[in-house]
Amino acid sequence: GQCITHCPVNGLHERDDTDRVYEAINDPDIITVVQIAPSIRAAWGEAFGLSPKFASMKRLASALHQVGFDYIFDTDFSADLTIMEEANEFLERVKNKDHEKFPMFTSCCPGWVRYCKAHYPEFVDQISTSKSPQQMFGAIAKTWYAQMLNVPPSKLCVVSIMPCIAKKHECAIPTINDADAGRDVDYALTTREMNRMIRSTHIDPHDLKERKLDMPLGLGSGAGAIFGATGGVMEAALRTAYYAVTGENPDPDAFRDVRGIEGWKEETFDLNGTPLRVAVVSGLGNAGKLLEALKRGDVEYDFVEVMACPGGCVGGGGQPIHDGVEMAESRGKILYDIDGKMSLRFSHENPSIIDCYEKFLGKPLSERSEHLLHTDHHSWKMPNEE
Ligand code: SF4
Repeated sequence: GQCITHCPVNGLHERDDTDRVYEAINDPDIITVVQIAPSIRAAWGEAFGLSPKFASMKRLASALHQVGFDYIFDTDFSADLTIMEEANEFLERVKNKDHEKFPMFTSCCPGWVRYCKAHYPEFVDQISTSKSPQQMFGAIAKTWYAQMLNVPPSKLCVVSIMPCIAKKHECAIPTINDADAGRDVDYALTTREMNRMIRSTHIDPHDLKERKLDMPLGLGSGAGAIFGATGGVMEAALRTAYYAVTGENPDPDAFRDVRGIEGWKEETFDLNGTPLRVAVVSGLGNAGKLLEALKRGDVEYDFVEVMACPGGCVGGGGQPIHDGVEMAESRGKILYDIDGKMSLRFSHENPSIIDCYEKFLGKPLSERSEHLLHTDHHSWKMPNEE
């Protein structure tokens, strides 16, 4: 696990939340909703010796249903929602470019957000205000989905399966804007914690049958799936930004040059006649180098993706560990494979996302979207800011 050593949140001691999750599962008054992060599907089966093909999301959904969760959903859905908000936020900043500073940075890795707040506070206002997919999922589950079930948000316990400890800290920081609903996400479990829960049900994972994910929050696009690999957020955002600017879809692979596990990648793409300079870094050492280069004026970018773990969330510290073997690259390939095989490859074409905007949010950056899906990175303090 690489994340642990790179992780600014000092996640050496895993706080195990499984007991609290079991309590919620066993409470007849509580409805448990679980979301599965993009990077988990590429890694969970390793611990049971399952092949990537067998260890599908539908088999994982079946395992989690047997563990006792009521509804099994996909963080790929809210990754698509993050793209809708973040791509539109970026285009708004570009429209307003005389008053904005560039680059805009992605916000979905809490390891990066903390690092920036602690070491480079001058860049914090350039981090996208869009919440991460984990947090957006919780905000939508406790509002739109609670309405669908016709229950108050307090009846829902939202659990997420995440690749790292930083995600546990993220769900504990006050990004929620709705006091009645409690936190966006109640508990985050790492892949390893989830696998222990699956083990203790005494299911033989080799016997798992496929089970469909629940709807509507169980549907994500290929663009959502690649969030788990370095470059994936950038590629997903560019697919939708291109559509928003031109009214037409690009070739879904048009931005594939940002793929690959190199720690610092840069590309210039043409967005309707405007050159767009993007960079993708993974590993906080590379993030620091990029910020220093920006400060010196050695590089200039419009949009930068940062992931704290080398290779992105597929290499997160909460994922299965194999001594001395780095899995980020092969797991990343699994995600690109999933994306390549899907017919749904654009966040803006996800029917559940279209429905959520039509019936609930209005449009990206609407008042309700701003309220539920965006956050103020200054609303909480690092210990060194107290
Ligand atoms: Fe967690 Fe992913 Fe960030 Fe690593 S890159 S700290 S796994 S969110």
